[in-house]
Amino acid sequence: MAYDDENIFAKILRGEIPCDKVFEDDYALAFNDINPQRPVHVLVIPKGRYVDVDDFTANASDAEISGLFRAVGEVANMMGVSDDGYRILSNIGAWGHQEVPHLHIHLFGGADTGPMIKRQD
Ligand code: AMP
Repeated sequence: MAYDDENIFAKILRGEIPCDKVFEDDYALAFNDINPQRPVHVLVIPKGRYVDVDDFTANASDAEISGLFRAVGEVANMMGVSDDGYRILSNIGAWGHQEVPHLHIHLFGGADTGPMIKRQD
């Protein structure tokens, strides 16, 4: 899928739409999810134009890839979720139920995050 510059996270990165920022560095921006599923629900996104994990791992530089994951760790630290534990996930494409076509890592914490995935039966 080609990157759509009009997606909502691209607009947030360009400063056209506000976000509730919790962290920013050269490689990543992190902000609170507008519809939080746990007391802590932060989205960590790369600053580059990447649709999803497939696009990112195929096309991003090593510095961008390590920068994003270091940002995830920084955010977990900042939000104080490491001691009790937390979950990260990234949805990809239709069956992954990805809504926004700019790579984002969800970070959930502050409460038990429940089973890993909904059972099929
Ligand atoms: P996904 O289904 O993985 O693409 O998740 C997209 C996430 O983006 C959802 O959890 C939404 O609540 C969140 N979201 C959408 N628009 C915004 C926004 N303007 N600011 C913060 N989070 C948003």
